[in-house]
Amino acid sequence: MFSPRFPQLRSIRGRTFATSTTLSALNAVARSTAQQLSADWKGTSATGGTTKNFIGGEFVESKTTEWIDLPDPSTQTVLSRVPQATHDEFEQAVDAASQAYKTWSRTSVITRQRFVMNLQQLLRENADSIANSIVLEQGKTFADARGDLLRGLQVVETATAVSTTLLGDKLEVSKDMDTYVKRVPLGVCASIAPFNFPAMIPLWTIPIAAVTGNTLVLKPSERDPGAAMIIAELCQKAGLPDGVLNVIHGGVPTVNAICDHPAIKAISFVGGDKAGRHIYERGTQNGKRVQANLGAKNHAIVMPDANKNLALNSIVGAAFGAAGQRCMALSVAILVGEAQSWLPELVERAQKLKVSGGFEPGADLGPLISPAAKKRVIGLIGSAEEDGGNVVLDGRNLTVPEYPEGNFVGPTIIEAGTKMKCYQQEIFGPVLIVLRAETMDDALDIINENRYGNGAAIFTQSGATAKKFETEVNVGQLGVNVPIPVPLPMFAWSGNKASVLGDIGFYGKSGINFYTQNKTITSLWRAEDAVGTRASVNMPTHH
Ligand code: NAD
Repeated sequence: MFSPRFPQLRSIRGRTFATSTTLSALNAVARSTAQQLSADWKGTSATGGTTKNFIGGEFVESKTTEWIDLPDPSTQTVLSRVPQATHDEFEQAVDAASQAYKTWSRTSVITRQRFVMNLQQLLRENADSIANSIVLEQGKTFADARGDLLRGLQVVETATAVSTTLLGDKLEVSKDMDTYVKRVPLGVCASIAPFNFPAMIPLWTIPIAAVTGNTLVLKPSERDPGAAMIIAELCQKAGLPDGVLNVIHGGVPTVNAICDHPAIKAISFVGGDKAGRHIYERGTQNGKRVQANLGAKNHAIVMPDANKNLALNSIVGAAFGAAGQRCMALSVAILVGEAQSWLPELVERAQKLKVSGGFEPGADLGPLISPAAKKRVIGLIGSAEEDGGNVVLDGRNLTVPEYPEGNFVGPTIIEAGTKMKCYQQEIFGPVLIVLRAETMDDALDIINENRYGNGAAIFTQSGATAKKFETEVNVGQLGVNVPIPVPLPMFAWSGNKASVLGDIGFYGKSGINFYTQNKTITSLWRAEDAVGTRASVNMPTHH
C-alpha cells in the first residue's frame, strides 16, 4: 500500500529514478504553495495525499484499489494520487445528480442566475489558488495559468445573462390560441475534460449546464484534477445544492461508464482524436447528445505586407506559449513570398524564450505534461529529419539546470513539407512547422487540404487580403492579425472539419442550445369562457 513517506520508483525512458513524495524535490515556492493548497481545499492534495471524489455535496475518499500517480511535470514529485473511481462510486455520483435534478430543474431562473453570479465572484477571489494548482499539476507558467482560469471565468460571467438568454418565442396563432417555446433542461449531463486547460474547460460546461437547470457529472483529466476540485468547492460555496455538480475521477473505465449510463442524457468532451471519436460513437449509439472538440493543426499565413514585428511576436507567442499544449496553438507558419526571408528572425525570437518551472520569474514556457509526451514530441521532431525536413531550431536537448528531471523541450522550428509526419500529426508541443508558399492562393490550398479546422490566422496590412482569407479559408475560427482567435463566450466555439464531432458547439448561444431542448406548447383559453365575470341581471334569452 502507498505510503507518502517512501519514494516511488518510476521508469521513464529507460531510466529508473526515485520520485519523492516528501516534497523535497520541490523548491521553496512550490513546496509552500503545495502545502497551502492542501490545507485550504477539501478535494485536492498537492503534498502526496489523495484527490477526492465529490459526490452529493461531499468530498469523499475513494475506496478504489487503483490509483493514478500525479507527478509534478517539473520534478516528478508525486503531488497527489487520483483514484480510478469504483463502479459503486460512479453510480452514486449519477444517482446524486439524478436526485438533485428533480429539484434543481424546477428552481427559478433567478435562483440559478444567482448561483453563477456568486460563482464568478468566488472564482475571481480565489484565482491565485486555482492558478497555483494548475502550475503545480500541469506545469504551465503562473501568468498563463491565470489566463486559463480567466478564460473560464468569462463563460461564468456570460452565463449570468441567462434570464435574458432564455427568453423564448410566443405567438397568438389563432383567436385565443397561443404557441410558445420553453427551453427545458435535458437531465443529468456529463463533461469529460483534457489536461491542457484544467480550469477553463470544466468552466465551459459547469455554468451553462447548471444555469439551464441540468445536473452534471464532471470527469476532469486524471493528470491534473486539482483545479476542478477547487472549482467544485467554490460552486458549493456559491450556493449550488448538493448533487447538482459531482466530480468523479478515473480514466477509460469512467469514460465508458459515462457513455453507457442510461440516466446520462448528454456528454461534452474535449480532448484528443482517439478518445473523442470513441466517446462520440459510443455516446451517440446510446442515444445521447454529444459535443466533442478534438485535435488541431492551426496555420498562420504571413504575408509580405504584414507588420513584421506583430507577426513574428504573435507567432512565437502562439506557437510556444503553454509549451504548445493548446488546441489553438499556432503550430504551422506559412511564409508567403518575401516573408520567407523572415525565418532567421523568427528563430532568433524563439531562441530568446525562457524555459523553466512555472513558478520561476520570467519563465515563458514550462514542461510538457509527462515524460511520455516529451518522448512523443522528440520522436516527431526526429521523424522530420528522417523525412527530409530541416530542424532550424532544436529544443530536444534543452536542459533546465534547476529542474533536471523536468519534461522540458525547448522551442523548436522545423522547415518541412506537407507530406511529412511532423506536419500531418498534431504534435502538441513547442514545435513550429514552417512551410513556404509563393502566393496567398497556395497558402489557402494548404490550409484547406488539412484535415483539421480549428483555427487559422493571417498577418497582413491589406483589408482586401484579409477579406479574401475570411471568404476562402475553410476553418472555424479566424484571426486577422490575431494569433489565437478563440471567441469570447458571447460567441460559440466554432472549430470545424476533423477538429469537432457533433453539431452543437460549446458555450455562447450554442452552449445554451446544447444543454436545453425545446418544448412548444399550444394552448387554447377562450376569453368568452372566463369565470368570475360580473353576474348578468338581464332576462336570459338562451341565445
Ligand atoms: P485525451 O484525449 O488523452 O484525454 C481527454 C479525456 O479523455 C481525459 O479525461 C481522459 O481521461 C479521457 N481519455 C483519454 N484516452 C481515452 C480513451 N482511449 N478512451 C476514453 N477516454 C479517454 O486528451 P489530452 O491529452 O488530455 O488533451 C490534449 C488533446 O485535447 C489535444 O489533442 C488537444 O488538441 C485537445 N484539445 C482540444 C480542444 C478543443 O477545443 N478543440 C481544447 C483543448 C484540448
